[in-house]
Amino acid sequence: MTNLQEIASEIESYVINDAKQAEDFRIKFIGSKGLIKELYGELKNVPADQKREFGQQVNQLKNLAEEKYNASKENVSDSKSQIDRFDLTRPGFDESIGSRHPLSIVRSEIIEIFKKIGYSVSEGPEIEDDWHNFSALNFPPEHPARDMQDTFFIDKGEQEIALRTHTSSVQVRVMENSTPPIRTISPGRVYRNEAISARAHCFFHQVEGLYIDKGVSFADLKQTLLYFAKELFGEKAQIRLRPSYFPFTEPSAEVDVSCTICNSKGCNVCKYSGWLEILGCGMVDPNVLESCGIDSNEYSGFAFGMGIERITQLKYKVNDLRMYSENDLRFLRQFTSNI
Ligand SMILES: [Zn+2]
Repeated sequence: MTNLQEIASEIESYVINDAKQAEDFRIKFIGSKGLIKELYGELKNVPADQKREFGQQVNQLKNLAEEKYNASKENVSDSKSQIDRFDLTRPGFDESIGSRHPLSIVRSEIIEIFKKIGYSVSEGPEIEDDWHNFSALNFPPEHPARDMQDTFFIDKGEQEIALRTHTSSVQVRVMENSTPPIRTISPGRVYRNEAISARAHCFFHQVEGLYIDKGVSFADLKQTLLYFAKELFGEKAQIRLRPSYFPFTEPSAEVDVSCTICNSKGCNVCKYSGWLEILGCGMVDPNVLESCGIDSNEYSGFAFGMGIERITQLKYKVNDLRMYSENDLRFLRQFTSNI
């Protein structure tokens, strides 16, 4: 007698991937000359006391095969009907083309400006050790940036590990691994443990620049920054330097650019001063050069750093920092660029 169990497992394991296989399956099991039909034919040979059970089992097989066949029809598509459905006269689907993020646009612009005067681009890790983020940069142990309030520490073991608080750490890595002349900018994301508001965020982006060579002076720094301001804000842009303090530069200065919104006449963006603060800079402290293995008697250099968000806010007049990371398409779609 036919082994019904074997047929059942053959039905279950039968692979149907296309219309032809579905049709082969139908012919083999449920067609008019199929196995199930054959089994019903065998019923007359089955002893009377087993007829009832045999009949039920064949019915079950029939249901199993039909269910599988019907399910497979939904999965495999008939290639002919697919061609019928394909309407060549229909208009095409719109490709949704994204736009570049405003911070990426401004970062690229800044990179292009410095590339023209020979600056390379350097990158480094966002998770840094104490040496590259603080110690090599002349940060005294009591400096507030080292405080838990300002820095995201990951591990406060023997060697403190933190999310970098500035991209100056990349400059340390470049100085350690190359010999002057060095002319590089380091764009990247940095982190501070701050409450998120319109004016502050726990992460933002910086571009820092570094130029080290023999005989580099403050005049070179000022001229480089004036060139940068004119390239970014237009030929009429002027800069002014105000004395400031940073652990890694001496002397240090804050740099303002003439307000491009009111042409220095005074407006609410420049707080009626006619000037907008854009970056910090200074001559690299000899201690920093020595920490990074550069002879400070032979070489000097300058460094500067700016927040990309700050520059973007000034260029696009966006007053809320949070908008840059909210992924709101209504905001992001407003920016276009060819770089
Ligand atoms: Zn103004």
